[in-house]
Amino acid sequence: MNDCIFCKIINGEIPCEKVYEDDKILAFNDINPEAPVHVLIIPKEHISMINDINEENAEVVSHIFLKAKEIAAKLGIEKSGYRIVTNCGIEAGQTVFHIHYHLLGGRELQWPPG
Ligand code: AMP
Ligand code: ZN
Repeated sequence: MNDCIFCKIINGEIPCEKVYEDDKILAFNDINPEAPVHVLIIPKEHISMINDINEENAEVVSHIFLKAKEIAAKLGIEKSGYRIVTNCGIEAGQTVFHIHYHLLGGRELQWPPG
């Protein structure tokens, strides 16, 4: 996707603070952190939003969760607790239309999330 900032991060056109990478996914620090730990985990394949997950591309979702718990452990928040959030669509607050999983932790998180 030419105009997608997360695709540009994946192909190195835009820098990021990388936390984890493999052949399927990339994780990097959010540029505007909402918590002491705020990592974005994204598939390398461009998928715009949850609504676009299908039988062909769904495997990466379980891979993201498998690696999310490893990233949480690496960053020392697996015991204290953390939250994984994906905003889907305008009213949910999605601003970047390349699916991403916010991994948030390092402080007490409020619920409901507003
Ligand atoms: P959402 O509002 O759920 O679509 O989340 C988009 C997230 O991407 C926000 O938390 C932004 O702070 C973050 N973001 C936008 N541009 C960048 C960037 N270049 N590097 C890291 N995070 C970014
Ligand atoms: Zn993209």
